[in-house]
Amino acid sequence: MKVISDLNQIPLVDRSLTAVWHPCTQMKHHESLPLIAITRGKGPWLYDEAGNALLDCISSWWTNLFGHSNPQINQAICSQLEKIEHVMLAGFTHPPVVELSEKLSALTGGNLGHVFYASDGASAVEIALKMSHHFWQLHNEPAKKKFVCLENGYHGETLGALAVTDVAIFREAYGSLLQDVFTVSSPDSRKAQAGENADDVARRAAAELEKLFAKEHQQIAAVIIEPLVQCAGQMAMYSPEYLRLVRGLCDRYDIHLIADEIAVGCGRTGKFFACEHAGIWPDFLTLSKGISGGYLPLSLSMTTDKIYRAFYSDATKQGFLHSHSYTGNPLACAAALSCLEIFEQDHVLKKNIDRSDDLARAFAWAKIDSRIEHWRQQGMILAFDVKQFALKNPGAFPREMFSASLKEGVLIRPIGNTIYVMPPYILSTTEAIQMGASVQRALEQVLA
Ligand SMILES: *Cc1c(COP(=O)(O)O)cnc(C)c1O
Repeated sequence: MKVISDLNQIPLVDRSLTAVWHPCTQMKHHESLPLIAITRGKGPWLYDEAGNALLDCISSWWTNLFGHSNPQINQAICSQLEKIEHVMLAGFTHPPVVELSEKLSALTGGNLGHVFYASDGASAVEIALKMSHHFWQLHNEPAKKKFVCLENGYHGETLGALAVTDVAIFREAYGSLLQDVFTVSSPDSRKAQAGENADDVARRAAAELEKLFAKEHQQIAAVIIEPLVQCAGQMAMYSPEYLRLVRGLCDRYDIHLIADEIAVGCGRTGKFFACEHAGIWPDFLTLSKGISGGYLPLSLSMTTDKIYRAFYSDATKQGFLHSHSYTGNPLACAAALSCLEIFEQDHVLKKNIDRSDDLARAFAWAKIDSRIEHWRQQGMILAFDVKQFALKNPGAFPREMFSASLKEGVLIRPIGNTIYVMPPYILSTTEAIQMGASVQRALEQVLA
């Protein structure tokens, strides 16, 4: 056992590699890939121990909306901290959770007026899946218990959420633990054939879903989708027409629609909820990541009056008996309320129109580069794919690109051959230009 004074002689990153098992990481890769110790952040910038600045182009795993160490959110959390840090939400309530639920309900026009809380995104997905399943039992249709998900979809990595996730690398080792699901084609607009547009791809994918519904609807509880952008699935983007068609099919065949807006919600696609692009509401809508501005773990699943009512009874077991210790944490809710306040007071959705134009201009070079294809953008997400022929070592490309970008002072994490940026909503025009130019320089080094 080393004493603390000894430990202080050892670099923090080495101590981390000894004691911390890092997420989504082959730890051995860190023999060559240095770990970065971040000691502070300000706005879109992260600073390491030596004071080097890194531009956070991916909002720290898609969570940060208004910059690191945002004075307004800091203040909201501090002022809540003086009142109550946490209290259990079974049998108790508190002002931040009530206000947040009311505000979120209002943002859906009251269509999704009941908010159930958890802490991480995967748990919010589990909640929606369990509620749907339980609803059909209460509705005397116990056979409706299978879920439909999309090819290339991602909904988190706990066992229930992983079962409806179609990203091979996350599933492979755990296949035998996962329930059976139906997987249908993604409406990914990159699949458009000659003469087809994104709507055609959407209609084709919806027709396949309809076939499945027609045959199996008696055993299907719900279909789960990421509206407009399959983020972990290499930022695959698709037409809102698909959402309208799926909503129609779910109504016709009595199947729940779960919209997982954990990554695309909170203004990311240009509207507060991505579903608003299609003018539809799902039966369940999950949020996490951006909802607390990237400050504290908070997730939730919103649902309709109809579903809420089905659980309302004198019988305990007819209730939704699901809980997490930190459900509806007051500090996290205070951070979320502060974010909603910023959305309103700073006209964020309106200003993001200009910000996404800035992003487009900053990455205009990639549109005309012959080594790049499928340049695409949806609000504050911009992505493009490096063609296979240009990659020397496709398996190592994400890490090589990550390392090269760090040297240019930007934080990006490519997924496969897809480079994307998903910055916080406080980026200045200058910072956007810097981002585009730095990523371009890094790419030139990697492809050289
Ligand atoms: C990140 C993500 C999740 C899982 O959230 P965690 O907080 O990482 O568990 C679920 N669905 C989507 C669409 C996500 O992007």
